[in-house]
Amino acid sequence: MKLTQQTVSTRCCIVGGGPAGMMLGLQLARAGVDVVVLEKHKDFLRDFRGDTVHPSTLEILAELGLKQRFDSLPQHRADQIEVLLADGVYAVGDFRGLKPFPYIALVPQWDFLNLVAEQAQRYPNFVLRMCCEATGIIRHEGDDRVRGVEANTSDGPIQVLADLVVGCDGRNSCLRDAAALQPKDLGSPMDVLWFRLPRHAADPDGTYGAPGKGGLLVMLNRNDYWQVAFVIAKGDAAMWRARPIADLHKRIVQRVGFLADRVDALTSWDDVKLLEVRVDRLPQWHRQGLLLIGDAAHAMSPIGGVGINLAIQDSVAAANILAPALLAPGLPDEALLAKVQQRRLLSTQVIQGIQVFLQRRLIAPVLAAQDDGQPLALPKAVKWLLRWRLVRSIPAYVFGVGFRREHVKSGRH
Ligand SMILES: Cc1cc2nc3c(=O)[nH]c(=O)nc-3n(C[C@H](O)[C@H](O)[C@H](O)COP(=O)(O)OP(=O)(O)OC[C@H]3O[C@@H](n4cnc5c(N)ncnc54)[C@H](O)[C@@H]3O)c2cc1C
Repeated sequence: MKLTQQTVSTRCCIVGGGPAGMMLGLQLARAGVDVVVLEKHKDFLRDFRGDTVHPSTLEILAELGLKQRFDSLPQHRADQIEVLLADGVYAVGDFRGLKPFPYIALVPQWDFLNLVAEQAQRYPNFVLRMCCEATGIIRHEGDDRVRGVEANTSDGPIQVLADLVVGCDGRNSCLRDAAALQPKDLGSPMDVLWFRLPRHAADPDGTYGAPGKGGLLVMLNRNDYWQVAFVIAKGDAAMWRARPIADLHKRIVQRVGFLADRVDALTSWDDVKLLEVRVDRLPQWHRQGLLLIGDAAHAMSPIGGVGINLAIQDSVAAANILAPALLAPGLPDEALLAKVQQRRLLSTQVIQGIQVFLQRRLIAPVLAAQDDGQPLALPKAVKWLLRWRLVRSIPAYVFGVGFRREHVKSGRH
Protein backbone atom coordinates (compact mmCIF):
# COMPACT_ATOMS: atom_id res chain seq x y z
CA MET A 1 0.00 0.00 0.00
CA LYS A 2 1.42 3.38 -0.98
CA LEU A 3 0.52 6.43 1.08
CA THR A 4 1.33 10.04 0.23
CA GLN A 5 -0.26 13.12 1.74
CA GLN A 6 -2.86 13.75 -0.96
CA THR A 7 -3.14 10.37 -2.65
CA VAL A 8 -3.67 6.89 -1.26
CA SER A 9 -3.48 3.85 -3.54
CA THR A 10 -4.99 0.56 -2.52
CA ARG A 11 -6.51 -2.57 -3.97
CA CYS A 12 -9.93 -2.03 -2.38
CA CYS A 13 -11.43 1.14 -0.92
CA ILE A 14 -14.49 0.66 1.28
CA VAL A 15 -16.54 3.78 1.97
CA GLY A 16 -18.44 3.65 5.28
CA GLY A 17 -17.45 2.08 8.58
CA GLY A 18 -20.84 0.63 9.55
CA PRO A 19 -21.55 -3.10 9.95
CA ALA A 20 -21.25 -3.81 6.21
CA GLY A 21 -18.03 -1.82 5.67
CA MET A 22 -16.16 -2.87 8.80
CA MET A 23 -17.00 -6.54 8.40
CA LEU A 24 -16.04 -6.51 4.72
CA GLY A 25 -12.79 -4.71 5.57
CA LEU A 26 -11.96 -7.31 8.21
CA GLN A 27 -12.63 -10.28 5.94
CA LEU A 28 -10.67 -8.87 2.99
CA ALA A 29 -7.73 -7.89 5.21
CA ARG A 30 -7.81 -11.36 6.81
CA ALA A 31 -7.64 -12.89 3.33
CA GLY A 32 -4.56 -10.77 2.53
CA VAL A 33 -6.12 -8.01 0.38
CA ASP A 34 -4.92 -4.40 0.81
CA VAL A 35 -7.94 -2.46 2.11
CA VAL A 36 -8.63 1.14 3.12
CA VAL A 37 -11.90 1.88 4.95
CA LEU A 38 -13.08 5.52 5.04
CA GLU A 39 -15.46 6.58 7.81
CA LYS A 40 -16.73 10.15 8.03
CA HIS A 41 -17.22 10.24 11.81
CA LYS A 42 -14.41 10.42 14.36
CA ASP A 43 -15.67 7.37 16.27
CA PHE A 44 -18.45 4.76 16.22
CA LEU A 45 -20.24 6.31 19.18
CA ARG A 46 -23.65 7.08 17.74
CA ASP A 47 -26.97 6.10 19.16
CA PHE A 48 -29.10 5.80 16.05
CA ARG A 49 -27.79 2.42 15.01
CA GLY A 50 -29.40 -0.99 15.23
CA ASP A 51 -28.26 -3.14 18.14
CA THR A 52 -29.74 -6.53 17.43
CA VAL A 53 -27.13 -9.15 16.58
CA HIS A 54 -29.04 -12.15 15.25
CA PRO A 55 -28.10 -15.86 15.19
CA SER A 56 -26.97 -15.48 11.52
CA THR A 57 -24.36 -12.89 12.59
CA LEU A 58 -23.36 -14.84 15.72
CA GLU A 59 -22.55 -17.78 13.44
CA ILE A 60 -20.40 -15.55 11.20
CA LEU A 61 -18.56 -14.17 14.24
CA ALA A 62 -17.87 -17.73 15.39
CA GLU A 63 -16.50 -18.59 11.92
CA LEU A 64 -14.19 -15.58 12.15
CA GLY A 65 -12.95 -16.70 15.60
CA LEU A 66 -14.50 -13.61 17.25
CA LYS A 67 -17.36 -15.14 19.19
CA GLN A 68 -15.55 -15.35 22.52
CA ARG A 69 -14.49 -11.71 22.38
CA PHE A 70 -17.97 -10.71 21.26
CA ASP A 71 -19.45 -12.58 24.25
CA SER A 72 -17.32 -10.48 26.59
CA LEU A 73 -18.97 -7.22 25.34
CA PRO A 74 -21.71 -5.79 27.58
CA GLN A 75 -24.90 -7.28 26.21
CA HIS A 76 -28.36 -8.52 26.88
CA ARG A 77 -29.52 -11.84 25.42
CA ALA A 78 -33.14 -12.19 24.38
CA ASP A 79 -34.50 -15.64 23.58
CA GLN A 80 -38.07 -14.42 23.09
CA ILE A 81 -39.68 -11.25 21.76
CA GLU A 82 -42.84 -10.29 23.60
CA VAL A 83 -45.77 -7.98 23.00
CA LEU A 84 -47.33 -6.13 25.94
CA LEU A 85 -51.08 -5.67 25.67
CA ALA A 86 -53.69 -4.59 28.20
CA ASP A 87 -54.79 -8.20 28.75
CA GLY A 88 -51.34 -9.76 29.06
CA VAL A 89 -47.89 -10.41 27.64
CA TYR A 90 -47.64 -12.56 24.51
CA ALA A 91 -44.45 -14.11 23.12
CA VAL A 92 -44.48 -13.56 19.33
CA GLY A 93 -40.96 -14.75 18.49
CA ASP A 94 -39.17 -17.67 20.14
CA PHE A 95 -35.48 -18.22 19.37
CA ARG A 96 -34.96 -21.12 21.77
CA GLY A 97 -35.14 -23.80 19.06
CA LEU A 98 -32.50 -22.21 16.81
CA LYS A 99 -29.08 -23.82 16.56
CA PRO A 100 -26.27 -23.20 17.34
CA PHE A 101 -27.23 -19.80 18.83
CA PRO A 102 -30.75 -19.72 20.29
CA TYR A 103 -30.94 -15.99 21.09
CA ILE A 104 -30.50 -12.41 19.85
CA ALA A 105 -27.67 -10.43 21.45
CA LEU A 106 -28.46 -6.77 22.09
CA VAL A 107 -25.10 -5.04 21.93
CA PRO A 108 -24.48 -1.30 21.54
CA GLN A 109 -23.31 -1.06 17.95
CA TRP A 110 -20.29 1.08 18.83
CA ASP A 111 -18.91 -1.74 21.01
CA PHE A 112 -19.42 -4.22 18.20
CA LEU A 113 -17.76 -1.97 15.60
CA ASN A 114 -14.84 -1.20 17.93
CA LEU A 115 -14.26 -4.93 18.30
CA VAL A 116 -14.30 -5.48 14.53
CA ALA A 117 -11.96 -2.49 14.03
CA GLU A 118 -9.51 -3.77 16.65
CA GLN A 119 -9.44 -7.19 15.03
CA ALA A 120 -9.00 -5.77 11.51
CA GLN A 121 -6.19 -3.46 12.65
CA ARG A 122 -4.11 -6.51 13.54
CA TYR A 123 -3.55 -6.93 9.80
CA PRO A 124 -0.88 -4.62 8.36
CA ASN A 125 -2.79 -4.51 5.05
CA PHE A 126 -5.84 -2.90 6.73
CA VAL A 127 -6.15 0.88 7.09
CA LEU A 128 -9.09 2.62 8.78
CA ARG A 129 -9.31 6.38 8.19
CA MET A 130 -11.76 8.06 10.54
CA CYS A 131 -12.96 11.66 9.93
CA CYS A 132 -12.63 10.94 6.22
CA GLU A 133 -15.75 11.66 4.20
CA ALA A 134 -16.03 10.47 0.60
CA THR A 135 -17.45 13.20 -1.56
CA GLY A 136 -17.45 11.64 -5.02
CA ILE A 137 -16.02 9.02 -7.34
CA ILE A 138 -12.98 9.28 -9.61
CA ARG A 139 -13.25 8.30 -13.26
CA HIS A 140 -10.78 8.92 -16.06
CA GLU A 141 -11.95 10.88 -19.07
CA GLY A 142 -13.60 8.66 -21.69
CA ASP A 143 -13.61 5.64 -19.34
CA ASP A 144 -16.63 4.46 -17.33
CA ARG A 145 -14.68 2.51 -14.75
CA VAL A 146 -14.68 3.89 -11.20
CA ARG A 147 -11.00 4.35 -10.26
CA GLY A 148 -11.31 5.60 -6.69
CA VAL A 149 -12.94 8.23 -4.52
CA GLU A 150 -12.46 11.86 -3.56
CA ALA A 151 -12.62 12.47 0.17
CA ASN A 152 -12.35 15.27 2.72
CA THR A 153 -10.24 14.92 5.85
CA SER A 154 -9.41 17.38 8.63
CA ASP A 155 -6.08 17.91 6.80
CA GLY A 156 -7.80 18.73 3.51
CA PRO A 157 -9.01 16.79 0.48
CA ILE A 158 -7.45 13.47 -0.55
CA GLN A 159 -7.85 11.03 -3.41
CA VAL A 160 -8.05 7.31 -2.76
CA LEU A 161 -7.23 5.35 -5.91
CA ALA A 162 -8.48 1.77 -5.87
CA ASP A 163 -9.03 -1.19 -8.20
CA LEU A 164 -12.37 -1.71 -6.52
CA VAL A 165 -14.54 0.71 -4.54
CA VAL A 166 -17.26 -0.73 -2.29
CA GLY A 167 -19.96 1.67 -1.14
CA CYS A 168 -21.09 0.74 2.39
CA ASP A 169 -22.11 4.31 3.14
CA GLY A 170 -25.64 3.60 4.22
CA ARG A 171 -29.05 4.65 3.02
CA ASN A 172 -28.00 8.19 2.03
CA SER A 173 -25.06 6.80 0.02
CA CYS A 174 -23.17 9.54 -1.78
CA LEU A 175 -21.39 6.96 -3.97
CA ARG A 176 -24.72 5.68 -5.21
CA ASP A 177 -25.70 9.21 -6.22
CA ALA A 178 -22.31 9.87 -7.81
CA ALA A 179 -22.67 6.71 -9.92
CA ALA A 180 -26.22 7.71 -10.93
CA LEU A 181 -27.74 4.59 -9.37
CA GLN A 182 -31.32 5.24 -8.30
CA PRO A 183 -33.03 3.09 -5.63
CA LYS A 184 -36.68 2.09 -5.96
CA ASP A 185 -38.71 3.31 -2.97
CA LEU A 186 -40.78 0.47 -1.47
CA GLY A 187 -42.58 2.80 0.95
CA SER A 188 -42.86 3.01 4.71
CA PRO A 189 -45.76 4.40 6.77
CA MET A 190 -43.68 5.22 9.83
CA ASP A 191 -40.89 7.15 11.49
CA VAL A 192 -39.32 6.55 14.87
CA LEU A 193 -38.81 8.77 17.92
CA TRP A 194 -35.74 7.36 19.70
CA PHE A 195 -34.83 7.98 23.34
CA ARG A 196 -33.55 6.38 26.55
CA LEU A 197 -35.30 5.75 29.84
CA PRO A 198 -33.71 4.49 33.06
CA ARG A 199 -34.06 0.77 33.76
CA HIS A 200 -34.63 -0.35 37.36
CA ALA A 201 -33.46 -3.60 38.91
CA ALA A 202 -37.04 -4.76 39.46
CA ASP A 203 -38.07 -4.18 35.80
CA PRO A 204 -38.95 -7.19 33.66
CA ASP A 205 -36.04 -8.68 31.76
CA GLY A 206 -37.43 -8.99 28.25
CA THR A 207 -37.43 -7.14 24.94
CA TYR A 208 -40.87 -5.79 24.21
CA GLY A 209 -43.21 -4.27 21.67
CA ALA A 210 -46.14 -2.37 23.16
CA PRO A 211 -48.64 -1.35 20.47
CA GLY A 212 -51.35 1.23 21.07
CA LYS A 213 -53.63 3.22 18.77
CA GLY A 214 -51.68 6.07 17.16
CA GLY A 215 -48.23 4.82 18.23
CA LEU A 216 -46.20 1.72 19.00
CA LEU A 217 -43.52 1.48 21.66
CA VAL A 218 -40.54 -0.86 21.30
CA MET A 219 -38.22 -1.35 24.28
CA LEU A 220 -34.71 -2.74 23.90
CA ASN A 221 -33.11 -3.91 27.12
CA ARG A 222 -29.61 -2.42 27.43
CA ASN A 223 -29.22 -3.65 31.02
CA ASP A 224 -28.87 -0.29 32.81
CA TYR A 225 -31.32 1.59 30.58
CA TRP A 226 -34.14 1.02 28.12
CA GLN A 227 -33.51 2.13 24.55
CA VAL A 228 -36.99 3.06 23.42
CA ALA A 229 -38.43 3.50 19.94
CA PHE A 230 -41.81 5.21 19.73
CA VAL A 231 -43.10 4.48 16.25
CA ILE A 232 -45.26 7.27 14.79
CA ALA A 233 -46.98 7.83 11.44
CA LYS A 234 -44.60 9.06 8.74
CA GLY A 235 -44.30 12.83 8.65
CA ASP A 236 -45.94 13.32 12.09
CA ALA A 237 -42.74 14.24 13.94
CA ALA A 238 -43.26 18.00 13.61
CA MET A 239 -46.80 17.67 14.98
CA TRP A 240 -45.49 15.67 17.95
CA ARG A 241 -42.72 18.14 18.63
CA ALA A 242 -45.19 21.04 18.66
CA ARG A 243 -46.96 19.41 21.65
CA PRO A 244 -45.78 19.54 25.26
CA ILE A 245 -43.37 16.69 26.11
CA ALA A 246 -45.99 15.60 28.70
CA ASP A 247 -48.09 14.26 25.78
CA LEU A 248 -45.31 11.82 24.96
CA HIS A 249 -45.02 10.88 28.66
CA LYS A 250 -48.74 10.10 28.65
CA ARG A 251 -48.53 7.86 25.58
CA ILE A 252 -45.58 5.98 27.00
CA VAL A 253 -47.33 5.29 30.29
CA GLN A 254 -50.54 4.25 28.49
CA ARG A 255 -48.56 1.53 26.75
CA VAL A 256 -46.17 0.47 29.51
CA GLY A 257 -47.49 1.35 32.96
CA PHE A 258 -44.32 0.58 34.93
CA LEU A 259 -42.49 3.41 33.14
CA ALA A 260 -44.67 6.00 34.93
CA ASP A 261 -42.07 6.61 37.66
CA ARG A 262 -39.35 7.65 35.18
CA VAL A 263 -40.87 9.26 32.07
CA ASP A 264 -39.86 12.61 33.60
CA ALA A 265 -36.29 11.70 32.58
CA LEU A 266 -37.38 13.05 29.18
CA THR A 267 -37.33 16.72 30.14
CA SER A 268 -37.78 18.19 26.66
CA TRP A 269 -37.89 17.22 22.98
CA ASP A 270 -34.09 17.69 22.94
CA ASP A 271 -33.92 14.26 24.61
CA VAL A 272 -35.76 12.68 21.67
CA LYS A 273 -34.22 11.98 18.25
CA LEU A 274 -36.11 11.43 15.02
CA LEU A 275 -35.12 8.47 12.86
CA GLU A 276 -36.71 8.47 9.44
CA VAL A 277 -37.59 5.01 8.23
CA ARG A 278 -37.03 4.15 4.59
CA VAL A 279 -37.30 0.90 2.65
CA ASP A 280 -35.75 0.91 -0.81
CA ARG A 281 -33.59 -1.19 -3.13
CA LEU A 282 -31.30 -0.58 -6.05
CA PRO A 283 -32.23 -2.45 -9.24
CA GLN A 284 -28.49 -2.70 -9.96
CA TRP A 285 -25.89 -2.79 -7.16
CA HIS A 286 -22.79 -2.21 -9.29
CA ARG A 287 -20.94 -0.29 -11.98
CA GLN A 288 -17.51 -1.12 -13.37
CA GLY A 289 -15.13 -0.79 -10.43
CA LEU A 290 -17.94 -0.03 -7.92
CA LEU A 291 -20.16 -2.28 -5.78
CA LEU A 292 -22.79 -1.19 -3.25
CA ILE A 293 -23.88 -3.39 -0.34
CA GLY A 294 -25.80 -3.06 2.94
CA ASP A 295 -28.20 -0.14 3.30
CA ALA A 296 -26.51 1.62 0.36
CA ALA A 297 -28.01 -1.09 -1.87
CA HIS A 298 -31.18 -1.78 0.16
CA ALA A 299 -32.36 0.38 3.09
CA MET A 300 -34.19 -1.81 5.61
CA SER A 301 -37.19 -1.15 7.81
CA PRO A 302 -36.47 -1.64 11.54
CA ILE A 303 -39.09 -4.44 11.59
CA GLY A 304 -37.40 -7.63 12.79
CA GLY A 305 -34.17 -5.74 13.61
CA VAL A 306 -32.63 -7.38 10.59
CA GLY A 307 -30.75 -4.50 8.91
CA ILE A 308 -27.27 -4.91 10.35
CA ASN A 309 -27.52 -8.66 9.97
CA LEU A 310 -28.40 -8.43 6.28
CA ALA A 311 -25.61 -5.89 5.79
CA ILE A 312 -23.16 -8.33 7.40
CA GLN A 313 -24.41 -11.22 5.26
CA ASP A 314 -23.81 -9.02 2.18
CA SER A 315 -20.25 -8.45 3.40
CA VAL A 316 -19.62 -12.19 3.75
CA ALA A 317 -20.95 -12.92 0.27
CA ALA A 318 -18.90 -10.04 -1.18
CA ALA A 319 -15.69 -11.19 0.56
CA ASN A 320 -16.23 -14.82 -0.53
CA ILE A 321 -16.76 -13.84 -4.15
CA LEU A 322 -14.27 -10.97 -4.45
CA ALA A 323 -11.27 -11.95 -2.29
CA PRO A 324 -9.82 -14.45 -4.82
CA ALA A 325 -10.07 -11.88 -7.64
CA LEU A 326 -8.53 -9.15 -5.48
CA LEU A 327 -5.62 -11.41 -4.58
CA ALA A 328 -4.96 -12.22 -8.25
CA PRO A 329 -3.45 -9.63 -10.60
CA GLY A 330 -5.74 -7.49 -12.78
CA LEU A 331 -8.90 -5.51 -12.25
CA PRO A 332 -11.96 -7.29 -10.81
CA ASP A 333 -14.52 -7.80 -13.54
CA GLU A 334 -18.01 -6.26 -13.27
CA ALA A 335 -19.49 -9.76 -13.78
CA LEU A 336 -18.09 -10.69 -10.37
CA LEU A 337 -19.81 -7.68 -8.79
CA ALA A 338 -23.05 -8.81 -10.43
CA LYS A 339 -22.53 -12.22 -8.78
CA VAL A 340 -22.60 -10.57 -5.34
CA GLN A 341 -25.94 -8.98 -6.20
CA GLN A 342 -27.30 -12.28 -7.58
CA ARG A 343 -26.23 -14.10 -4.43
CA ARG A 344 -27.89 -11.61 -2.06
CA LEU A 345 -30.89 -10.38 -4.04
CA LEU A 346 -33.50 -13.04 -3.31
CA SER A 347 -33.08 -13.07 0.48
CA THR A 348 -33.14 -9.24 0.50
CA GLN A 349 -36.30 -9.18 -1.63
CA VAL A 350 -38.04 -11.74 0.59
CA ILE A 351 -37.19 -9.95 3.86
CA GLN A 352 -38.14 -6.54 2.47
CA GLY A 353 -41.35 -8.07 1.07
CA ILE A 354 -42.25 -9.37 4.55
CA GLN A 355 -41.38 -6.00 6.13
CA VAL A 356 -43.51 -4.08 3.63
CA PHE A 357 -46.42 -6.53 4.16
CA LEU A 358 -46.22 -6.14 7.97
CA GLN A 359 -45.92 -2.36 7.63
CA ARG A 360 -49.10 -2.23 5.53
CA ARG A 361 -51.19 -4.85 7.33
CA LEU A 362 -50.19 -4.37 10.96
CA ILE A 363 -48.33 -1.12 11.58
CA ALA A 364 -50.13 1.36 9.29
CA PRO A 365 -53.63 0.51 10.65
CA VAL A 366 -52.41 0.81 14.26
CA LEU A 367 -50.75 4.16 13.56
CA ALA A 368 -53.79 5.49 11.69
CA ALA A 369 -56.26 4.46 14.45
CA GLN A 370 -57.71 7.27 16.59
CA ASP A 371 -56.73 6.85 20.23
CA ASP A 372 -60.19 6.29 21.81
CA GLY A 373 -58.73 5.06 25.11
CA GLN A 374 -59.69 1.46 24.30
CA PRO A 375 -56.72 -0.92 24.57
CA LEU A 376 -55.62 -3.00 21.59
CA ALA A 377 -56.20 -6.72 21.82
CA LEU A 378 -55.00 -9.66 19.77
CA PRO A 379 -57.70 -11.60 17.93
CA LYS A 380 -58.57 -14.84 19.78
CA ALA A 381 -57.31 -17.01 16.91
CA VAL A 382 -53.87 -15.31 17.02
CA LYS A 383 -53.69 -15.79 20.81
CA TRP A 384 -54.48 -19.47 20.33
CA LEU A 385 -51.84 -19.86 17.59
CA LEU A 386 -49.19 -18.13 19.71
CA ARG A 387 -49.58 -20.81 22.38
CA TRP A 388 -47.61 -23.14 20.09
CA ARG A 389 -43.85 -22.83 20.24
CA LEU A 390 -43.55 -23.99 16.63
CA VAL A 391 -45.66 -21.00 15.51
CA ARG A 392 -43.55 -18.60 17.59
CA SER A 393 -40.39 -20.11 16.10
CA ILE A 394 -41.35 -19.16 12.54
CA PRO A 395 -40.76 -15.37 12.86
CA ALA A 396 -37.65 -16.13 14.94
CA TYR A 397 -36.24 -18.25 12.11
CA VAL A 398 -37.26 -15.86 9.32
CA PHE A 399 -35.68 -12.80 10.95
CA GLY A 400 -32.97 -14.53 13.01
CA VAL A 401 -31.52 -16.76 10.35
CA GLY A 402 -33.04 -15.55 7.07
CA PHE A 403 -33.37 -17.30 3.76
CA ARG A 404 -29.78 -17.66 2.68
CA ARG A 405 -27.15 -18.41 5.29
CA GLU A 406 -23.74 -17.00 4.46
CA HIS A 407 -20.60 -18.73 5.70
CA VAL A 408 -17.11 -17.27 5.76
CA LYS A 409 -15.12 -18.89 2.97
CA SER A 410 -12.56 -16.17 2.29
CA GLY A 411 -9.38 -17.61 3.76
CA ARG A 412 -6.80 -16.36 6.19
CA HIS A 413 -3.48 -15.44 4.64
C1 LIG B 1 -35.17 3.52 13.23
C2 LIG B 1 -34.31 2.38 12.79
C3 LIG B 1 -34.03 1.38 13.71
C4 LIG B 1 -33.26 0.28 13.30
N1 LIG B 1 -33.03 -0.70 14.19
C5 LIG B 1 -32.34 -1.78 13.80
C6 LIG B 1 -32.07 -2.84 14.72
O1 LIG B 1 -32.45 -2.80 15.89
N2 LIG B 1 -31.34 -3.90 14.26
C7 LIG B 1 -30.86 -3.96 12.99
O2 LIG B 1 -30.22 -4.97 12.63
N3 LIG B 1 -31.09 -2.97 12.11
C8 LIG B 1 -31.80 -1.89 12.48
N4 LIG B 1 -32.03 -0.88 11.59
C9 LIG B 1 -31.43 -0.95 10.26
C10 LIG B 1 -29.91 -0.78 10.36
O3 LIG B 1 -29.58 0.39 11.08
C11 LIG B 1 -29.24 -0.73 8.97
O4 LIG B 1 -29.84 -1.67 8.10
C12 LIG B 1 -27.75 -1.05 9.08
O5 LIG B 1 -27.11 -0.11 9.94
C13 LIG B 1 -27.07 -1.00 7.71
O6 LIG B 1 -25.66 -1.14 7.87
P1 LIG B 1 -24.67 -0.48 6.80
O7 LIG B 1 -23.30 -0.80 7.24
O8 LIG B 1 -25.10 -0.87 5.43
O9 LIG B 1 -24.97 1.08 6.89
P2 LIG B 1 -24.85 2.09 8.12
O10 LIG B 1 -25.02 1.40 9.42
O11 LIG B 1 -25.76 3.22 7.80
O12 LIG B 1 -23.34 2.58 8.05
C14 LIG B 1 -22.91 3.48 7.07
C15 LIG B 1 -21.61 4.10 7.56
O13 LIG B 1 -21.08 4.91 6.50
C16 LIG B 1 -20.65 6.15 7.04
N5 LIG B 1 -20.73 7.11 5.93
C17 LIG B 1 -21.83 7.58 5.34
N6 LIG B 1 -21.51 8.40 4.32
C18 LIG B 1 -20.14 8.42 4.28
C19 LIG B 1 -19.20 9.08 3.44
N7 LIG B 1 -19.61 9.87 2.43
N8 LIG B 1 -17.88 8.89 3.67
C20 LIG B 1 -17.46 8.08 4.68
N9 LIG B 1 -18.32 7.44 5.51
C21 LIG B 1 -19.64 7.61 5.30
C22 LIG B 1 -21.63 6.42 8.18
O14 LIG B 1 -21.09 7.33 9.11
C23 LIG B 1 -21.81 5.02 8.75
O15 LIG B 1 -20.84 4.73 9.73
C24 LIG B 1 -32.77 0.22 11.97
C25 LIG B 1 -33.04 1.25 11.06
C26 LIG B 1 -33.82 2.31 11.46
C27 LIG B 1 -34.13 3.40 10.49
